[in-house]
Amino acid sequence: MNFDTLKSQFPDLEIYQNHLLAPYTTLNIGGPADIFINTKTSTEFVNVLKYLSETINFSAHSDPKVASTAKIELSSDITILGNGSNVLISDSGIRGIVVKNSANNIEFLPNNQIKVDSGVLLPRLLQVTTDHSLSGLEEFAYIPASVGGAIFGNIHGVNKNNFDKFIVSVEALDLNDVNYKLMNHSDIQWDYDYSSFQPNRNLIIVSATLQLSPGVPENSQKIINDIVTQKTTTQSMNSVGCVFKNPPGDSAGRIIDQELNLKGFQIGDVQISPKHANFILNIGNATASDYLSVIKKVQSEAKSKGFLLEPEIKFLGEF
Ligand SMILES: Cc1cc2nc3c(=O)[nH]c(=O)nc-3n(C[C@H](O)[C@H](O)[C@H](O)COP(=O)(O)OP(=O)(O)OC[C@H]3O[C@@H](n4cnc5c(N)ncnc54)[C@H](O)[C@@H]3O)c2cc1C
Repeated sequence: MNFDTLKSQFPDLEIYQNHLLAPYTTLNIGGPADIFINTKTSTEFVNVLKYLSETINFSAHSDPKVASTAKIELSSDITILGNGSNVLISDSGIRGIVVKNSANNIEFLPNNQIKVDSGVLLPRLLQVTTDHSLSGLEEFAYIPASVGGAIFGNIHGVNKNNFDKFIVSVEALDLNDVNYKLMNHSDIQWDYDYSSFQPNRNLIIVSATLQLSPGVPENSQKIINDIVTQKTTTQSMNSVGCVFKNPPGDSAGRIIDQELNLKGFQIGDVQISPKHANFILNIGNATASDYLSVIKKVQSEAKSKGFLLEPEIKFLGEF
């Protein structure tokens, strides 16, 4: 990929070479992307992705089964970054192209529906829908996700609802579809278990239509404020949320706290939160390498006591 050609193709976009990624993550950790592109509308997002998929000279995949179905590998050729609140980016950064999705349009439709760009951040979405007397998303307060990240991970709220409960349809771009057509929710085999999300990993979420209910702004605001007040007693933004999946019938936080006694454990500037054992924090100038060491320490101590703890965050770049 020739940087100058790319720049001349999209003169109005922020496109940088060797650009540090840490500021685009809640952890503030991560080295540079070879090429970083910030897209601020869905049109820019889609146009850039189409252009990249047409232009990059992808080498054939070594697995013939994959090669026959996928020309482009998300994460090895192109990495999509939402709000970086569920990723640990390597200190050496990400090779290839990182496309940051900052598209932020919200459109109000009839019947209490809204159409949102996947780059819209949830805190803003909650504020805007509350102000427009629409209710439903309050339980996702204090989650710093983009809508795309929220759909990709099917986040759960305090009432135990997942985000897909509110989805009417999703426009997604399949980089390997020759026509690059946008798909509706029903065309996609959505499967939110990370281990089996694999077949869909080349899908990029562009926008979503959500079904909300009529609400009263003061009531929604009170619910949001109460959740934020409650969560800030144990959570903080210099994190990636819960690092480990809960083992069936148990809680990773309970295991790390009560079985392993690791609350407050620290390597460099990486600390297991003294307030929430499944939150691992950057308390200064933490590195990805130290962060990974803390994860491995937790996993090995857990294993020695018969517990299997698997990370639920995404690792981007080389570890
Ligand atoms: C303080 C704090 C509290 C949190 N609380 C919760 C919680 O209560 N519940 C919960 O479930 N999670 C929680 N999280 C975790 C996190 O916010 C979610 O996992 C969120 O969905 C990540 O969204 P993002 O936009 O930051 O995604 P990113 O971290 O940018 O990306 C995560 C993954 O999604 C992919 N992705 C992003 N956008 C797209 C797109 N448009 N199309 C395709 N793939 C895409 C990325 O490539 C990456 O693989 C919390 C995190 C923090 C820091």
